[in-house]
Amino acid sequence: MNRLGVLGWPVAHSRSPAIHNAALSAMGLADWHYQRLPVPPMLFEETVRALGQAGFKGANVTIPHKAAALRLAGEASRTAREIGAANTLTFGEEGQISAENTDAPGLIAALGFSPRGMSAQVLGAGGSARAVVWALLDAGAGPVWVWNRTADRAQRVAEELGARATGLPRPADLLVNCTSVGLSVERSATEDRALNQLGLKGDQVGDYSHVADLVYRTGSTPLLAAARHRGVATTDGLEILIAQGALSLESWTARAVPLDVMRAAATMDP
Ligand code: NAP
Repeated sequence: MNRLGVLGWPVAHSRSPAIHNAALSAMGLADWHYQRLPVPPMLFEETVRALGQAGFKGANVTIPHKAAALRLAGEASRTAREIGAANTLTFGEEGQISAENTDAPGLIAALGFSPRGMSAQVLGAGGSARAVVWALLDAGAGPVWVWNRTADRAQRVAEELGARATGLPRPADLLVNCTSVGLSVERSATEDRALNQLGLKGDQVGDYSHVADLVYRTGSTPLLAAARHRGVATTDGLEILIAQGALSLESWTARAVPLDVMRAAATMDP
């Protein structure tokens, strides 16, 4: 059995096992299986070092382990090194561990167009914001503005990656939400309240020509709903999740992966 998994803490809510197992089955890879790997931070390194011998070919990495995953890998791609985080680990037969970050190319693939020459406003300064800012700059977008609730984190991300920090979201071609605002499924989380937490007013959303939201949930996020009401093109967080997952699976199996199967599995009720 060739094993794959997703390392996180917590990871119970992850849709990755359903998405990847549906793809593996459609690819005819009956001897491959993808599972949740709930690992607390203090056990992360020793657990990951044991995975190769336990039959694991690779693992996705999610909160809070992405920086630790990069640190323990013996080799890492330029993308992972420059972002400072890895979301994909591959285990070699001799115990080697290599790190990649497919969050960045996943965003560009999910957008479905090149952002070259476009201005962009990124909201957030956490792990996913780093990958998104890097991806946009690497793809030739600019200027790329970073806004965050905690301003000094925006400043740090912008300085480290070559973007520009801003005290308020600016009008731009692209808007990408990399905060967790909108994740809540509570009905009380109204559109205006969510936009407020992002430093935006509803009408401002109409100033962008494309809005992407990394947050994924059943139904639309408040930001995507506001964009759609105003006729603005959107990219859903699930599409980004599928794109980055597909790139990881492709690298582990060296096979083309069925995006439509992954999409169907992602939108199925858990
Ligand atoms: P993270 O490192 O924990 O960063 C969280 C970010 O959200 C920070 O910028 C934080 O601001 C901001 N934030 C949290 N609550 C806020 C609030 N009430 N108002 C304003 N800002 C708030 O998390 P992450 O890894 O970047 O992930 C962010 C989101 O993206 C999560 O929902 C995650 O599930 C999603 N994600 C999706 C994909 C995908 O493939 N679709 C991939 C990665 C992540 P402060 O610095 O001020 O705390």
